[in-house]
Amino acid sequence: MSMFKRFRIDTNQLYIILISIIGCCFFILANKGEFLYYTTSQWVWLYAMLGSALILNFFTFQLPPQGNVQSMDSSIYLACIFIYGAPFALSIILFNLIIFIIYFRNISWWKHFANFSIYSLMIIGSSYIYNLTGGQIGPIQNEKLHAYIATLIVYFALNVSLLGLYFYLHYKGSLYEILKSFLKDTLLVYLSTLVLSLVLSILIVHNGIFGLALFMGVSVMLSYSYKKLFKMYNEIQEKAIKDQRTGLFNHSYFESLLDTEVKKSKTAGTPLSLAMIDIDDFKKYNDQFGHLKGDLLLGFLGKFLKDECEPAEVTASRFGGEEFTILMPGYDENKAQNFMNRLRKKLNDTYFDGVEIFPAGCLSFSAGIASYRDDIYDKAQMVDLADQALYYAKKQGKNIVHVYGSGSVKEYEIDFDEDVRDIEQQLKLFLYKDVDTFKHSKRVFRYAIDMSEVLNLDSIERRTFVLGALIHDIGKLEIPWGILNKQDKLTPEEWETVKRHVSWGKRIAETNEKHAELVPYIELHHERYDGGGYPHGFKGSQIPRLCRMLTIIDSFDAMTSERPYQKTKTYEEGIAELRRCSGTQFDPELVEIFINYMEQRIIEQQQPAAGFDS
Ligand code: GH3
Ligand code: MG
Ligand code: MG
Repeated sequence: MSMFKRFRIDTNQLYIILISIIGCCFFILANKGEFLYYTTSQWVWLYAMLGSALILNFFTFQLPPQGNVQSMDSSIYLACIFIYGAPFALSIILFNLIIFIIYFRNISWWKHFANFSIYSLMIIGSSYIYNLTGGQIGPIQNEKLHAYIATLIVYFALNVSLLGLYFYLHYKGSLYEILKSFLKDTLLVYLSTLVLSLVLSILIVHNGIFGLALFMGVSVMLSYSYKKLFKMYNEIQEKAIKDQRTGLFNHSYFESLLDTEVKKSKTAGTPLSLAMIDIDDFKKYNDQFGHLKGDLLLGFLGKFLKDECEPAEVTASRFGGEEFTILMPGYDENKAQNFMNRLRKKLNDTYFDGVEIFPAGCLSFSAGIASYRDDIYDKAQMVDLADQALYYAKKQGKNIVHVYGSGSVKEYEIDFDEDVRDIEQQLKLFLYKDVDTFKHSKRVFRYAIDMSEVLNLDSIERRTFVLGALIHDIGKLEIPWGILNKQDKLTPEEWETVKRHVSWGKRIAETNEKHAELVPYIELHHERYDGGGYPHGFKGSQIPRLCRMLTIIDSFDAMTSERPYQKTKTYEEGIAELRRCSGTQFDPELVEIFINYMEQRIIEQQQPAAGFDS
């Protein structure tokens, strides 16, 4: 009584109890203690088959990629059903159960019982069908192939449904998905089981124990080869995802993991942080002690990161050279920053031969952290943001962890003017090809500067938004002169060419590492809020917020300035057009913000300049 009070029985346990009771009842009804009356020769066969089943339980077939283990002992039970009938097969699993309970004492007895009951039901159910479809106990008969197939199908169906239901209750997944994965994994194995059971039956009927021994020899050798193959597969797999020098995951594994995690966060809304690490002044160490010693230090750092990251359930990878990444699923900005700072301090306190030569007198790294946000649509963006934060940390004086978007402006401002000059230099090519695009880009750039004030953007967002606005049409450099300057309406083919400027622009920007972060503005400024834009047809929040803003500015300027293929609108007409397309082409919330700003600007322009009115 007290035992039942202590344990609350859930559906899963109830299922196990039910299956065990039903299985045992059926066993008793079908077996009827037949083995009590066996002759010596029947006992010999029982031991032989039991021994074979146990051996096959050990010599399993291990299948890549997950290493699912498939035991071929079912071929023994099926052969018994065909040659000796179900009671004999049931006797074998009874003795099997006794041996398992004694030998595998660490596994709970109820698991052994549940397993025994499931096997009993499979054997009884399938032998019933065997008899029903005309199968006869004894030698294999060619003309009864349908009975063998029917037996296997029922054996298989019972196995999949009884175990599938257990996993369904236990893991609460979708029943369909569980059954599908079961079928995928085991269909081929079951087919081989049928063939093997028929082969075994023929061998036993014709050659007795020698036939059984032959069968076992082949099975054991095959299982051995499979195990070796699986081991090799694992070793190759390990090599393919690991970096040899540091023992950490390599770059390509990191990329695929990041992709998975970003997608997971996108759908489930769970936090995710990424830290980019660069070892401070590593070159000095190489210069002082040589590359070989530098390699040893890298190996040491790899082990250090691995040992620290594994317990925290975060993944360290070698990004390249002396740069590492730490991917932290479930970590928000604060948690990630705390973890990285603890790691940094621990490394500062860790000794390695020769660390005295470092400027800080100890090992140190700088790190940049980027956390997942709604407007991140691609894994490359996470890397880019973390990289920018790392750059910032280096500029702040190294041995620092910096979270993207949390710092002062200074360093970015210095780079900013330089970047504007860089992009303007590129845009000057438009002066000979399409002066309108040159002027348009400059106007959109000025709108973007104003809008970053209105939107109260932080320094880093402001920088990419404004530079993105300046460079957004760079791809138009690739549009043929004739189309770019055509006065008449464009043909559909010509429109298609014009539309390709976003992809061309993306490729141009990607050639310059400094402009990688501007790619979304170039690529996505013709996406529409309702998903009807190009090149991807992204919708709503799939398009980063500031790209949606750029679309509004870009369109407004296109409407209100002179362009070869359309009539110029006044500001008021432009505003009306924005309103008309609010919620379809444009983000309605951002449209209102932009319209407010424009209306303010119009009012200011109409007022006489300050100082003249009194
Ligand atoms: P900073 O603090 O600015 O990061 O200074 P740093 O000296 O670490 O400069 P940087 O990150 O630009 O240079 C990385 C150096 O790391 C350059 C290269 O000599 C060294 N390095 C990269 N990969 C390996 C490697 O596999 N083995 C060895 N021994 N050195 C490497
Ligand atoms: Mg570096
Ligand atoms: Mg470095």
